[in-house]
Amino acid sequence: MEVGELRGRIPNEIIDSLYSRGIKTLTPPQESAINNGLLSGHNMLVASPTASGKTLIAEIAAVNTILRTGMKAVYIAPMRALATEKYEEFRESYPYIKAALSIGDLDSNDPWLAEYEMIFFSTEKFDSLIRHGADWLDKVGAIVFDEVHMLDDASRGPTLEILITKLHETTRAQIIALSATIGNPDELAQWLRAKLVTSDYRPVPLLKGVLYNSNVYYVEDSGAFVAEKLNGESEVPEIRAVQDTLKKGKQVLIFYSTKKNAEAGAAKLAKYAEPILSAAEKNLLEEAGKKILNALSRPTEQCEKLSTLVKSGVAFHHAGLLNQQRSVVEHAFKDNLIKVICATPTLSLGVNIPAHTVVVRDITRYENGLSERLGVNEVMQLFGRAGRPKYDKEGRALLLAGTRERMEELTRQYILAKPEPIESALGIAPVLRSHILSFIAEGFLTTKKSMAAFLQKTFYSFLFGNKLHIESMVEEVAGELEDWEFITSSGGSYTATKLGKRISELYIDPLSAKLMIDMLEEELDNIGMLFMIANTLEMRPYAKVTREAEEKYALYMHEHKRFKKVHELESIDPVGAFSTALMLRDWIEEMKEQDIVKRYSTTPGALFSKITNADWLIYSAIEMAKILRMRTNDLIDMRVRLRYGIKEELMDLVRLSQIGRVRARLLYENGIRSVADIKADPERVRRILGKEIAEMIFRENNIEFH
Ligand code: ADP
Repeated sequence: MEVGELRGRIPNEIIDSLYSRGIKTLTPPQESAINNGLLSGHNMLVASPTASGKTLIAEIAAVNTILRTGMKAVYIAPMRALATEKYEEFRESYPYIKAALSIGDLDSNDPWLAEYEMIFFSTEKFDSLIRHGADWLDKVGAIVFDEVHMLDDASRGPTLEILITKLHETTRAQIIALSATIGNPDELAQWLRAKLVTSDYRPVPLLKGVLYNSNVYYVEDSGAFVAEKLNGESEVPEIRAVQDTLKKGKQVLIFYSTKKNAEAGAAKLAKYAEPILSAAEKNLLEEAGKKILNALSRPTEQCEKLSTLVKSGVAFHHAGLLNQQRSVVEHAFKDNLIKVICATPTLSLGVNIPAHTVVVRDITRYENGLSERLGVNEVMQLFGRAGRPKYDKEGRALLLAGTRERMEELTRQYILAKPEPIESALGIAPVLRSHILSFIAEGFLTTKKSMAAFLQKTFYSFLFGNKLHIESMVEEVAGELEDWEFITSSGGSYTATKLGKRISELYIDPLSAKLMIDMLEEELDNIGMLFMIANTLEMRPYAKVTREAEEKYALYMHEHKRFKKVHELESIDPVGAFSTALMLRDWIEEMKEQDIVKRYSTTPGALFSKITNADWLIYSAIEMAKILRMRTNDLIDMRVRLRYGIKEELMDLVRLSQIGRVRARLLYENGIRSVADIKADPERVRRILGKEIAEMIFRENNIEFH
């Protein structure tokens, strides 16, 4: 279908925007969505491969709603990075539509959002807004759920499922759900009460094969294999695939099972990528490398390693990178500066960075001590990154085999296999804890009967219809919440206590809240406070247990016998939590990032994600302590120390912007110990920090200097 044919059916603004981006013809799933009632408000599930144009379907429905009806549209993604990417693209395409991005603070109802027409959310942020009672929800005319196949993800699925069910019950907005190719799109569509659009269209055809020795083996429809010789010298198949791709002037993405393997892979490949870089590319990569190195004020070994590799046109990419570094790598790859990325499968959860060739070297994923085989859907998600629209005539996605038998097996198990059906991840009581509390706190559902009836509308019930199991889960969870005094019942109807309501808004797991409250009741020293926040579900996976943690834990528990009851609730690896507390202690004792990362066998990315979580948890502890009329001073101080990673004596200095743990320590050691000292002797600050940095600090903090 030509875009011109839509004239009169959709606002001209959309047509103009499509033309201005060079879009003249609709892709098959786009045409099919339009023909199936996208413009007349039908709910719709679109299940099709990456880059088949799903986003545009959502965009047309959203903008059509905004311009035609004056209502709002929202876009919801399970990953923040994805919401951010789509928001940025949208702003460029429709500068005159008021668009906002809301993925941050989970403890706010963000009334400012009422002003906006198109809002991009993470699932959690949208869910938390409902808990805070945002008052513009009835003005939403269209809701887009991106990556809806994530319903079967154990950690992200349940919230998404409850949110969809809730919105189904409470709004009349059009729902547009976008999914990768899955085995049971019809079931999902039926549950969503949506029309189904499926397609296997790809803008760039995808060749799927298996790497074995120096060949790629593709399977033909007849079942016969055809071999394609790879252009290169190496005897190592994946290196040869890289050589072959680089010789074509293209880029490669290789997936490994572990962070370590990904890093080792990148180190091995640098010597193949570096020689093909032009002088201009080298200059730009030098800049990128610097940004990566300077992401922390004192680079860790990982920062140095990544920075050096990036300068030779290769990068590793995994959850251990700092966000800022990840973004530099992604941009440099999109700009065709980095030629090879060696990644763990987490990359597929982020933004879209396609490459000509994708190699899935390992079909396992190794995370938190568990090794898991990748499913067909996951491998297809990784494969889907092959082929850059506009640059490639075709994309190539390869598995790796060590023997001919293995090659045949992988072909059968993955290349020729059908996608798996997705299931619901909602079937266990603990995942319902926070949702049931939120139902009651919002006054949305207040009886066991209504909660069970609601849960019978979930995808879980749709698939398994297990009414008794649902009733027993509700029973169990409501009983627990009542025991913990987060809810009370009267005449068969529940209300949330003040504490329960606050916990629901704070968006922490009620069990974590209970564990923290029990400890708050005690006199807590610094380790006690850190242990309180570490001993929660949100801080998992815990840091590696060090020898010190093992030794000190027993001793600490002996000295603080009263903490014992904390662990009677649920065994959640208290020694691991204690080790995590010690890691936070090292952080606030100003140990260098590099040394912490080493001591706890972790990565800068994981360390900073723990620090961010710790900040949220200690904030939550303060908020709960206020309601319980407990002292909060020590907690408030601890929050500052955790945020900056500093000893108590630096707390005054970090009040100024641009002063963190390193600069504050430097000033302090040189006799500048407070903001007042800075104001009194700017000359000295200049000498300590250097003129440029000192003056930037003065300017940013409105401090007079001459
Ligand atoms: P998906 O959401 O299915 O992964 P996208 O909607 O992101 O795919 O589309 C992938 C790319 O194709 C985008 O750069 C988009 O601008 C472009 N695109 C989408 N629809 C068309 C079309 N009809 N013609 C040309 N390019 C298109």
